[in-house]
Formats: sequence, C-alpha cells, structure tokens
Amino acid sequence: MELQGKIAIVTGGGRGIGAAIARELAAGGARVVVNYRSRSDAAEAVAAEIGGVAVQADVSTTEGCEKLVAAAEELGPIDILVNNAGITKDGLLMQMSDEAFDDVLAVNAGGCFRMSRAVISNFVRRRAGVIINLTSISGIRGNSGQVNYSASKAAIIGMTRSLAREVAKRKIRVNAVAPGFIETDMTAVLPDIVKTEAKKIIPMRRLGTPEEIAPLVRFLAGPGATYITGQLFVVDGGMTC
Ligand code: NAP
Repeated sequence: MELQGKIAIVTGGGRGIGAAIARELAAGGARVVVNYRSRSDAAEAVAAEIGGVAVQADVSTTEGCEKLVAAAEELGPIDILVNNAGITKDGLLMQMSDEAFDDVLAVNAGGCFRMSRAVISNFVRRRAGVIINLTSISGIRGNSGQVNYSASKAAIIGMTRSLAREVAKRKIRVNAVAPGFIETDMTAVLPDIVKTEAKKIIPMRRLGTPEEIAPLVRFLAGPGATYITGQLFVVDGGMTC
C-alpha cells in the first residue's frame, strides 16, 4: 500500500466527501486523523471503521488548528493534510449578512490558511509533505446565491497556487480538487428544483458521489504525483468542460 506509515489529517472528515477521503487514505495504508467540529458521532464512527483517531477542532480558529495539529503529531510527523472542512450560507448578495459572508470565508478560506500554516514549518524542516485543498466549481465559474462561498473557494485556488510556488523547492506539494455537485448533507438541503436544474447542465446528467472524489485525493497524496504541484483538478461530470 502506497501510503503505508503515513500520517494524514482530513479536516471535516466525519461526513460527506471528507469521510470518503478518510476511508480512501486509510485504504492506501495511512493513519488518518478525522477532524470534526460538532458531529462527534459521525467522526468517531469513521475513525473506528478505519483505525484512525477522531479529533474535535474548529478550523476557523488558530487555537483549533494548533490543537488539531498537536493531536495528530502524537501519532508521528504529519505527511498529508487534506483541507476539506467547509460550510455554505447561501443567499442573494442583496440579502447577505456580514455574518454569512464572514463565517463562510473564515471556515473555508481561513481554515485552509490556518491549517496550512500550522503544518508548514514541520513540512519545511522535513523537506516533505503534501497539502490537498477542497475547492469547488463555484469558485471557478461562480454560482448565483453563493457570493460568499464562491469568494472563499476562489481564495483557496489562489492560496493553493501561491503556497505551491513558495514551498516547491522544499519538496512540499500543494494541489486543489474542485468537485461539482456531489451528494452529501451540503447539497441535500438544496431544493429539488435546484438539483433538477443542475442535472440539466451536467453532461453526465447526475450528481457525483463522495467516492468519486476521494480516489483523486489519494492519488495526489501518493507516489504517483511527485511532480504535480500548484494544480487544480475538476471532478464535475463534465459541467465545466
Ligand atoms: P458536508 O457533508 O456538509 O460536511 C462538512 C464537513 O466539514 C463536516 O464534517 C463538518 O464537521 C466539517 N466542518 C464544517 N465547519 C467546520 C469547522 N469550522 N471546523 C472543522 N470542521 C468543520 O460537506 P461536503 O459536501 O462533504 O463538502 C466537503 C468539502 O467539499 C467542502 O469544503 C465543500 O465546500 C466542498 N465541496 C462540496 C461540494 C458538494 O457538492 N457537496 C461541491 C464542491 C465542493 P461536523 O461533521 O462536525 O459538522
């Protein structure tokens, strides 16, 4: 198994895409720290299933990120960070509160920034490490009702490219994965009409599943991707092609 002996953190790893990524990295041999914010039941179940560890931490705060990294380092030096935790607070711009904007930026873009900063010194010291950031097609093509979310996901794409350039010579790789519409709790709350309309503009005419995102993350974390950095990989059933 190509990730045998590696230590990985998956933020928001208890549910949805994060849970699929945690399972996939574990299937590759990695020991996975399954982070969650409030749903301990889900995260504990995933951790038990894959022989990992569940750790509560809010990635929108510096203390949360440092606590999470410290907990992971108890297992050994961290090799893989997957910045997957994310939230939506959708609404039209004219009705969007400061709080809805700030919260989404703080968790999605802020979490990615703070977690990356919390691991990077050790990655630099060890001349090794992989970061994979979950962004979204919403950050590429925009989406009505998601000014806050699109801004956060576009920020993650910029962060991925800049950090990749910063640390490439230290043998650290940073890439981004942009899913399209994926069946998780995040999209379950969307009205049926939105999902029906979405399917019409997806060439494959269906939503994707978390299990269709996770194998790419495993590949990017592993030995087949050693010359790949600063890249954005879209997995969306052809929606943006
Ligand atoms: P989800 O099912 O709603 O799960 C979100 C996860 O993030 C949960 O595990 C949640 O923890 C965690 N989380 C939220 N805020 C957090 C915080 N402040 N600190 C730590 N963890 C936090 O979402 P998903 O659909 O799997 O999405 C995963 C990622 O893919 C997100 O970044 C999302 O933006 C991105 N994405 C999703 C889609 C899609 O269609 N679903 C499309 C494109 C991109 P708890 O379980 O404790 O609540």
